Amino acid sequence: MLKCSVCIHDERTAKIKIVNGKPVCKECLHYLAHKPDKERVRAELEELMSKLNKAIVAFSGGKDSTVALYLAKEKYGVDVEAVMIDHGFMAREAIENAKRMCDYLDVPLTVLRYDYSDIFREALLKAKSPCKKCSSRTMGELREYALKKGVKSIVTGHELPFGHHPYRIMRGGIIQIRLLSLMSEEERFKILEKRPFKFPELPGYTTNCLIIGPALRRYYEKHGYSFETRRIAALVRYGLIDTKKAIKKVSKPKISEKIEREVYKRLGIEKKD
Ligand SMILES: [Zn+2]
Repeated sequence: MLKCSVCIHDERTAKIKIVNGKPVCKECLHYLAHKPDKERVRAELEELMSKLNKAIVAFSGGKDSTVALYLAKEKYGVDVEAVMIDHGFMAREAIENAKRMCDYLDVPLTVLRYDYSDIFREALLKAKSPCKKCSSRTMGELREYALKKGVKSIVTGHELPFGHHPYRIMRGGIIQIRLLSLMSEEERFKILEKRPFKFPELPGYTTNCLIIGPALRRYYEKHGYSFETRRIAALVRYGLIDTKKAIKKVSKPKISEKIEREVYKRLGIEKKD
């Protein structure tokens, strides 16, 4: 099987071409032809953030949004409100991290509770990734909240997507600022290690969600690879994460049986072994 020589894609997860005798995936080819300019992206962010007075931070209690919250408050001095969308399956550790970080930074924390069990049930029953639907619903709810509060900006811990801009304008004129665009794992860890953030033991890339583990397992059983491959391949391509670590993150997940049973039970799905 051909493996991309730049990222971690292989023939199962992306189209691979041979270029100058080397296998390269379609996404890496696109990246190499239109490489994002890190200096420019960082400069764009600096300009946006230096003008920002007030913002909502999309705060899941996970590691990335914790770094985003810290930077918005401490580095840029923004008047922030941390808003957590609790979809019903947040890890206890993430809620504890959220409370601890907000106390530490002296930032108000608002928790909005919603029921996403329709998304999660579908993901587990059909062996699909719940992430895209969950993330887009969450951003929609945050947008509504920002409009209601009259706040124009939402800072998030998202990575730079395809398209190369660290921000986007949402409906209603709300601007989403992806504050961690092109920031390496190492830089993020450096910020976290001096803060009261404790790493939960959860499978995959997540540091806050209980659904990812069981969903990864279902997906892995059906497809033989992780649905997080594309996202983690992008981090490798951007040079933001170590390749070895990335491969480990997309390997067959080890799931806590206790969490898995609990998730299936709460979603009312009978688990077949
Ligand atoms: Zn690639």
